[in-house]
Amino acid sequence: MAKKLFTGGTVVSGAGCRKADVLVDGERIVAVGDCPEALDDPDLERIDVSGKLLFPGFIDGHTHMDLDVSDTVTIDGFDSGTRAEVAGGTTCIVDFATQNRGESLAFALEHWHGKADGKANCDYAFHLALSDWNESVSRELGQVVAGGIGSFKLYTTYDGMVVDDRTIYEIFSRLKELGGIAGVHCENKGIIDARLVQVLARKGNRKQVSDYPWTRPALAEAEAVNRVLNIAACVDTPVIIVHLSSRQGWEEVCRARQRGQKVYVETCPQYLVMDQSRYSLPDQEARRYMIAPPLRGTEDQEILWKALADGVVDTIATDHCSFTRQQKEAGREDFSRTPCGMPGAEERPGLVYHFGVGQGRITLEQMCRYLAENPARLYRLYPRKGVIAPGSDADLVVWDPEAEWTLSEKTQQSAADYCPLEGTRLKGRGEQVYLRGRLVARNGELLEPYTGKYVTADTKEPIDF
Ligand code: MN
Repeated sequence: MAKKLFTGGTVVSGAGCRKADVLVDGERIVAVGDCPEALDDPDLERIDVSGKLLFPGFIDGHTHMDLDVSDTVTIDGFDSGTRAEVAGGTTCIVDFATQNRGESLAFALEHWHGKADGKANCDYAFHLALSDWNESVSRELGQVVAGGIGSFKLYTTYDGMVVDDRTIYEIFSRLKELGGIAGVHCENKGIIDARLVQVLARKGNRKQVSDYPWTRPALAEAEAVNRVLNIAACVDTPVIIVHLSSRQGWEEVCRARQRGQKVYVETCPQYLVMDQSRYSLPDQEARRYMIAPPLRGTEDQEILWKALADGVVDTIATDHCSFTRQQKEAGREDFSRTPCGMPGAEERPGLVYHFGVGQGRITLEQMCRYLAENPARLYRLYPRKGVIAPGSDADLVVWDPEAEWTLSEKTQQSAADYCPLEGTRLKGRGEQVYLRGRLVARNGELLEPYTGKYVTADTKEPIDF
């Protein structure tokens, strides 16, 4: 592959923006700044990016591709799911490989490689979601961490996945020994299950989606956040709260941090730009917005934006978990049977730029941290990923801050047959997306399929941010 010199652009990092040329040789960045020696190279391809921003390829630290859940399978596998990611500027995802009960960790990982390998359009790493805990799984965890998986997922709800408090404690303890970290889905299962029964008792059915958010209140999130943080404090280990959605959950995080606890926090664009009024749409439409935790109120949105502005949330990930309108119909007679989740892979960078940077809520540097640098550091892909620096993978997004585009099911790359923000006009877009030096997407269209590779976390190094 010839050398490429990106000239005239503004390079964005978490620390600042500067005008600089970027020289790429093959799959790696070799220089940032003046590159006079490159100009003599007859094979050099010059790419004029004047007026554009250069971001490190974005990283989506929370995806569910090809996931078996709610008696169905997400409509986006690694193929269409990563097509959507790369079309929007994301060059690496961290997907949740999942251990179903009774499975060894080796089996679960092999299963996930079977889903992903050869089908990905961007690079991919794995977290491992644990649902079964015993001596043998605990032993196996050592090999898994040594093999380059450093982040794990636990659920405090969902029948097939929930782990009890003792298990959470034991897993946190084992991960502390091994240098791993857990991200936790925080919602109190008891409150949710009891309220589902209450809705049925009161109404005789569970058809009305407008009752859905009441069954998963913010206090159910806050209770689980508080409990998980206290367990982590007992173990004396850091923890990640994934997809934080509410003021009440956020207040628990603040309290723990005031006590000196290390807590990483992830939120998602859907909690920033959509609210629970969507559940009052006609049921068929409202089901498309059923995610867990549910969309919250506008006050929650403002608190999350403020936390992002203050630099005290760490990452913005999608929780991309997509279903078709037909799949969502499984909840027609009972909303609790609706597969929860929505697509968001392609629009994440555009939404964060338009509603965050464009509307003055966060800075370009913060966008870079939340979408690239911080997930790379937290999941130990840094500095290979998440930064434009010599030696890093040449994952680059040429961002056109002036480009306007419209979100639509008709043009999106996800296989979902609806777009949650259909018709929303955005300013700012990834114009060209380079994956390890190759131009793989332009203006939302995939150019080169299946060039994604599996990447491992550098689990020998501690998490240091
Ligand atoms: Mn999720």
